[in-house]
Amino acid sequence: MNILVINCGSSSLKYQLINSDTEEWIAKGLCERIGIDGSQIVYQKAGGEKETTVSPMPDHTEAIRLVLEALTNEMTGAIKSLSEIDAVGHRVVHGGEKFASSTVITPEVIEAIKECNDLAPLHNPANLIGIDACQKLMPGVPMVAVFDTAFHQTMPAEAYMYGLPYSYYEKYKIRRYGFHGTSHSFVSKKLAEDLGKKPEELKVIVCHLGNGASVSAVKYGKCVDTSMGLTPLEGLIMGTRSGDIDPAIMEFIAHKENKSIDEVMTLLNKKSGVYGLSGDFSSDFRDLEDAYNKGDKKAEIAIKTFCYRVAKYVGAYTAAMNGVDAIAFTAGVGENCAIVRTLVCEYLGYLGVKLDEEQNHKRGDDTVISTADSKVTVMFIPTNEELAIARETLALV
Ligand code: ADP
Repeated sequence: MNILVINCGSSSLKYQLINSDTEEWIAKGLCERIGIDGSQIVYQKAGGEKETTVSPMPDHTEAIRLVLEALTNEMTGAIKSLSEIDAVGHRVVHGGEKFASSTVITPEVIEAIKECNDLAPLHNPANLIGIDACQKLMPGVPMVAVFDTAFHQTMPAEAYMYGLPYSYYEKYKIRRYGFHGTSHSFVSKKLAEDLGKKPEELKVIVCHLGNGASVSAVKYGKCVDTSMGLTPLEGLIMGTRSGDIDPAIMEFIAHKENKSIDEVMTLLNKKSGVYGLSGDFSSDFRDLEDAYNKGDKKAEIAIKTFCYRVAKYVGAYTAAMNGVDAIAFTAGVGENCAIVRTLVCEYLGYLGVKLDEEQNHKRGDDTVISTADSKVTVMFIPTNEELAIARETLALV
């Protein structure tokens, strides 16, 4: 079966066509600057080179039309006709409390996703536009929504409630939801498989460290806590997001710098994190590591503060689960940045974590980076959210 995976943002759209039998991608790419001047589509067929074509895309329907055209192109297409697309899996950011698992898209599901728009005003409307555009261009093809929040719906109330008046939870559904759920689910299952165990036998901490970053506690296969909250701003220090701060800092900055709430929010989302800490130098750990190695003090502070926060969450989640059997690092930084893993694990001696530095400096597929006598197994495991979405879609259609 061929499954098209669509991840629609407000001005971009990532896509991947996956053969569910081999679990390999057949073609992939992205559309950028949708609705803005200079839109372009990047397309790559398995075994082929990336091709970039500049083409006007006034809206997402046009972007998806161009994706389908590229996939079926006579010369370079990966398939002959649209009839070879058997199902579409859509990434949807916020499923609120309505969706604890992926679901086949029906008119009722679309209405329920719309009701969650308030909780993710930048993301959900874009996801819905992607669904609508696909339904117009591929009528009759089954479609599935896979939610970033769904995996975290198993959290108990003590993990998802904030210390705010209860009425805000009742009125506005203000609570912790968590994100990156597809990745936390995929990596925690993959880790169990790699160790020859069932997810039900393990207490696992997954550190998804990319540009956006979050940690989750997965006890016996179910998420019991995660670091992102009502929005992706909470928790770890990220590429450009502050993560946890004293909420009173918002008012303090607003007064000192004469900023509105919206402006402070932009500061916390786009100008903070390791980018802000490094003195507006870079949000990319490759740049930060280079600068750190050359003795740059702010890059050092950025990396060390980032790692310290990760280690604090690992400690907190070990307490939440009353123990931990394995820790997995994933996403851009978690998979590739050995120094981050070293600095995090240096705090974990009390858990009996012992890192094997030679293993830690390897690259590639799932790798155990702890020593044979380490009490907790530590691994890096490349995440694959598109494959996870394709699997969920296959299971439902
Ligand atoms: P997202 O999906 O949240 O945009 P990714 O998971 O793709 O993020 O991670 C992107 C980040 O991964 C980059 O900003 C960079 O900091 C980091 N990264 C990627 N490759 C490397 C590498 N080889 N060494 C260190 N960090 C890396």
